[in-house]
Amino acid sequence: MKKNICVLGSTGSIGTQTLEIAKNLGIKVSSLAVNQNINLLEKQIRMFKPQIAAVFNQNQALNLKKRVNDTFTKVVAGKEGVCEAAAISSVETVVSAMSGISGLLPTVEAIKNGKNIALANKETLVSGGSLVMKLAREKNADLFPVDSEHSAIFQCLQGNKDRKNIKRLILTASGGPFFGKNLSELENVSPEEALKHPNWNMGKKISIDSATMMNKGLEIIEATHLFEVPIENIDVIIHRESIVHSMVEFKDGSVLAQMAVPSMKIPIQYALTYPQRINCSIESLSLTGCKNLSFFEPDYQVFKAMEICKKAFKGNSSSCAVINAANEKAVELFLNREIRFTDIIKLVNYALNNFKFSEINSVEDIEIIDRKVRNEIHIIAKDLQ
Ligand code: NDP
Ligand code: MG
Repeated sequence: MKKNICVLGSTGSIGTQTLEIAKNLGIKVSSLAVNQNINLLEKQIRMFKPQIAAVFNQNQALNLKKRVNDTFTKVVAGKEGVCEAAAISSVETVVSAMSGISGLLPTVEAIKNGKNIALANKETLVSGGSLVMKLAREKNADLFPVDSEHSAIFQCLQGNKDRKNIKRLILTASGGPFFGKNLSELENVSPEEALKHPNWNMGKKISIDSATMMNKGLEIIEATHLFEVPIENIDVIIHRESIVHSMVEFKDGSVLAQMAVPSMKIPIQYALTYPQRINCSIESLSLTGCKNLSFFEPDYQVFKAMEICKKAFKGNSSSCAVINAANEKAVELFLNREIRFTDIIKLVNYALNNFKFSEINSVEDIEIIDRKVRNEIHIIAKDLQ
């Protein structure tokens, strides 16, 4: 397939699956970016021969430079290096698959340079949604969702683009590893238990977000930006089997769903081949083989993250950047065993109610909020112990 891509976060869960797809479809990979995993990046350089490889960690960038000086790949470092990889002129689509807020700046740089975005990094839209969507419109850049729920909705909306016809979006959620548990049972769960997702094998941050259901809250915000559907018209339903990836209900009562076996390869590939559908070497969905397709209301008393995210969205444009930063810091502290699992959402809620900033006008504004909130959360978390 004639296409030229950049993969931001090429050593991660989404990044490695993207490269498998690129290899299968003969898509050219012109630039790659990672945080510090130069062992895997070196292998990727030797396989895909990109023009540029960016390593955020400066020391690891120097090490990589020595290792690949027999190749034509230019190694660049730091935040500037990652942005250079995202803006490279030969690339038409940037796969935004870094984890967390670090994905915002290079994704914005890519859009500024007229690239289309295959968007996995939901934190970009959570923190800077209005800013990013406005810039994409100005630059005529398309945002193709990679998140499976948003890809499902995007697929259901093909041929049904008039927003006036939509009654509501229904995001499905697996419910994560702690479905059915009460708050006291969640108090002492370990990072290992929280990382054990029933259906998906993902990076650590999104796995913890799935366990707290913050992931679904972030996805509600992501969906309202991507599809311009009011947040009141976005519902969540628990679907343990992860076969129905999301649904759209139209005004006439018709509901369209997208179904497939749970594999991120389908949404990643569709974001790269849209509007074409190409063989993806994924097993066929056997509905008779699925014992059951079950649906439940979320337990909003135990999993408060979704309501907190909706409330944040209704605040001023800085509120979503505040909850995103608080959540990222709290997840990090939980993974380091410095706070309890249930403290994560308590801290996010505290941040929303207590940290006030003025409206966001630039990526720099978001970066400042992000730094301040992380510092505050670190200090408050010490008092929780
Ligand atoms: P991983 O943790 O598996 O991978 C993260 C990638 O980002 C790694 O390549 C990492 O490099 C790189 N990275 C992290 N920080 C930086 C930085 N500062 N500069 C450059 N590269 C950096 O995450 P996932 O693949 O699971 O998730 C990526 C994004 O996709 C997240 O926003 C997530 O919410 C979203 N997503 C993921 C899904 C999934 O199934 N995994 C599903 C839907 C959305 P290194 O390896 O060197 O640390
Ligand atoms: Mg998702």
